[in-house]
Amino acid sequence: MTATPDPAYRDLPSVDRLLGDARVAPLIARHGREPLAGLARAVLAEYRRSIAERGRVPAPAVAEALIERAAALDPSLVRVVNATGVIIHTNLGRAPLSRATIEAMERAATGYSNLEYDTATGERGSRFSHLDAALCRVTGAEAGIAVNNNAAALLLSLAALCGEGEVIISRGQLVEIGGGFRIPDVLRQSGVQLVEVGTTNRTYLRDYAGAITERTAAILRVHASNFRIVGFVEQAPLHALAALAHERGLLLLDDLGSGALLDTRAYGLAPEPTVQQSVRAGADVVLCSGDKLLGGPQAGIAVGRAPQIEAMSRHPLARALRLDKTAIAGLAATIDHYARGDAVTEIPVWRMIATRADALGRRARRWSRACAPRATVEAARSTIGGGSLPGETLETVVCAVDPPAGRSGELSGGPSSGPSSGDAAAFAAALRAATPPIVARIAAGRVLLDPRTVDPRDDRHVARTLARLCAAAAEEQEPAAGR
Ligand SMILES: *Cc1c(COP(=O)(O)O)cnc(C)c1O
Repeated sequence: MTATPDPAYRDLPSVDRLLGDARVAPLIARHGREPLAGLARAVLAEYRRSIAERGRVPAPAVAEALIERAAALDPSLVRVVNATGVIIHTNLGRAPLSRATIEAMERAATGYSNLEYDTATGERGSRFSHLDAALCRVTGAEAGIAVNNNAAALLLSLAALCGEGEVIISRGQLVEIGGGFRIPDVLRQSGVQLVEVGTTNRTYLRDYAGAITERTAAILRVHASNFRIVGFVEQAPLHALAALAHERGLLLLDDLGSGALLDTRAYGLAPEPTVQQSVRAGADVVLCSGDKLLGGPQAGIAVGRAPQIEAMSRHPLARALRLDKTAIAGLAATIDHYARGDAVTEIPVWRMIATRADALGRRARRWSRACAPRATVEAARSTIGGGSLPGETLETVVCAVDPPAGRSGELSGGPSSGPSSGDAAAFAAALRAATPPIVARIAAGRVLLDPRTVDPRDDRHVARTLARLCAAAAEEQEPAAGR
C-alpha cells in the first residue's frame, strides 16, 4: 500500500543527481564513485527519516551535507607544519628524514630487494645483516641490530638475555617514557623480575652490589632522557656499573633513549651521553631510538657484544618486533650520514639544532610583516623535545602574534567555538585549520611561531595564512571599512 508521497520527499534529489552536482564531481575523482554513492545513500536515508519525523527537509541542502560528510573519507594522517620550536615533537611524528634516507626508503619500497637473500650464494639471508656493519662502524660496538622501536629493543633484550632472572634498576630510573608507557611495565612484560635499588635521588654502586643474588641476570641503566633531577643527586657511573656487573658474571644493559651519536655540547647544549661512550664504558648492550636524536625512521637500535646481539636476533620476539624493509633502508641511509660525516648538514634534526638564531630572524620577520601590526619579532627558546635533553633550549627568534580579542566563528575555524574564544587558543586553532595545519605554541596569551622547526619551503604558506587570519581579524573589527 502506497501512501501519498509527502511533497517534501520530492525535494530530495536522487543519488545520481546528487553525484552529478558540480561541487561533488571533484570528490568522486578523489574518493571514487562507490564510496561516495554509499555516503549519498546514507545521507538521503537520514533526510527521509527526518522528513518522516518532522515533516520537512532539514538544513543544510543534501549536497552540502554530503560534501561535509565526505571529509571523513580523506586520509586521517596528514602533513602538518611544526611551528612549535620543539624539534623532536613526538606527537608530530618525531624526526623528519634526510633526502638520502627518503630516497633509500623509496628504492626499497618500489621494487624487490635482497632483504633476506644472499645474492652471492642464492640462499636465504638475514634482514638483520644489513645494519650490523654500519652500526658497528659508527658506534664502535661488536654487533648491532634494529627492531621496531626502543621499547621493543628493551623488551627483546630483557627477554632474550635475562630469561626470568632478576634485573636490578635504580629507583631514580623507573621512568615513564610518554603516552603512559613505563619502563617497569616493559620489564614485567618481558618476564624478568624487577629489583629496585637506591632512592629517587641517590643510588650508589654499593646499592647495586648489595642486591645481587644468584638469580640476578643483569643491571639495567635507564637514561633519564625526559626529565632531570637536580640537587642532592647521585647515580653510579656507567663504567663502575660495568666493572661490577662483569666481576659478578652479569650483563650491563644501557637504555639511552635518545641515542646521540654527535656531541651536543658543540651547539651550546648540555652533554647528552652518546652511544659510543656507553659502548666504551663497557655496557654489553646499548639501546636507543632511531627517530630521536639519531634523526632517522622509527626504530629501536641495540648495539653491543656479538653473542648478546646474536641471541637477541634469534629470539622468537625478534620476528614479532622486526623492522620492515623501508625502515631498514632508511635507517641504513641515516647511519651512513654519521659514517660520512655529513650528519649535521643532511639530517634535519641536527640541521635544526645547528641553525643559528640570526638565520631564523629573517624568516620570523617575514611572517611578522604578514601579520602587521599584530605581530612582533622576539627572542625566545626552541626545545629539543622527544625525550631528549630535558630543560635544554636553543636561542631562537619567533614571530609573536597578539591575538585579536573577541573572535567568533571565522577565525577559530568552526561554529563550535564559543563566544569566549577571542584569544590565543582561537588564533592557534585557526592556524591548525589551515591546509596543511600549522601548529604553533601559546605563551602568555600570545601565539608564537618558531621558524627553527619549519621547513623553509613552508614559509610562504605560514606567511599567507597569517596574512589571511590577520586581515580577517582587521575586517571584523572595522565592519564599516569598504563594503
Ligand atoms: C624514548 C625512550 C624509550 C622509548 O623509545 P621508543 O623508540 O619511543 O620506543 C625508551 N627508553 C628511553 C630512556 C627513552 O627515552
